[in-house]
Amino acid sequence: MSCVFDLEHYRELLEAAQSGGYRFAFFEGSPQPGTVLLRHDVDLSLDAALRMAEVEAEHAVSATYLLMTESVFYNLASSEGVEAIARLRDLGHAVGLHAVYPNVVLDERFDPVVSWHNPDPEKMSKTIPGAVNVYAEPYFDRPAYRSDSNQHWRSGCPHEELRGGGFPWLQILVHPEIWVYEGATMGLTMRTMLNAEKDRRLEQLRADRIDLD
Ligand SMILES: [Zn+2]
Ligand SMILES: [Zn+2]
Repeated sequence: MSCVFDLEHYRELLEAAQSGGYRFAFFEGSPQPGTVLLRHDVDLSLDAALRMAEVEAEHAVSATYLLMTESVFYNLASSEGVEAIARLRDLGHAVGLHAVYPNVVLDERFDPVVSWHNPDPEKMSKTIPGAVNVYAEPYFDRPAYRSDSNQHWRSGCPHEELRGGGFPWLQILVHPEIWVYEGATMGLTMRTMLNAEKDRRLEQLRADRIDLD
């Protein structure tokens, strides 16, 4: 099995966790032995989030999607954003806020769960009044945490250890864009995403009655 960042290996990762006996849980209560907290910070693309959410639903996996209200890449208040939240909920996922420090405005769109975007390590674990901070106890513990940031697992892809039941419990941060759009490096993956984005933008322009002839 090669640890490529694509949806095929993402499926293998989910299956590895399931055959290792893990259960996918939300950020509620304390992590129990055998819990996997699958978390998605959606930095760049709602489309990528939705595609990943569908794959998870096919595997009966539920995850927590943290969405931004201050993104320069997507607009959660647009019809697209509203539909994306509804679809994520329909598929059985939790939806929380991916916040830009220190702004936390939790309205009715969000469960009270927050992750920081590009957090400053000094501040990231502070208590957030009225909400779960995914970077605080009891959910954040370095040996029980893996992140795919910039297409690089700092401590290796966790699929082997998941399959073997090697983690007591685990929080995994997966960025959907990295897996949905393919490329051997983060730079190439981002270019694949931008090419797809260009087609999507042209569609949006047509829908907005812009003459493209
Ligand atoms: Zn792997
Ligand atoms: Zn982020």
